[in-house]
Amino acid sequence: MARLRTLANRVAMAPTRQPANHRSADRRMTGRALQERRLRIWARDPHCADCGRLVAMHEFELDHKVALVNGGPDVDDNCQVLCIGPDGCHHRKTRVDLSR
Ligand SMILES: [Zn+2]
Repeated sequence: MARLRTLANRVAMAPTRQPANHRSADRRMTGRALQERRLRIWARDPHCADCGRLVAMHEFELDHKVALVNGGPDVDDNCQVLCIGPDGCHHRKTRVDLSR
């Protein structure tokens, strides 16, 4: 047990490699947690939040209602289903979000 505690302390003290100024707007959920959120939100309502089209699992992207770059929180309540494609609702909204 004593050995494990020592190891845990060393791990906790390891310095982060991530630059401190890289954290603000770009900190978002990734990997498996993101895939689970994607499924959870789509299962709640599988329609595009903008045009209302029914979308399959591979036909949408998770969108932040208030974009992260505009200070929106990275939480489920700020996420919605938007359809994709060159003229899809997500593409269009992202353009608007970035122009603010
Ligand atoms: Zn749409």
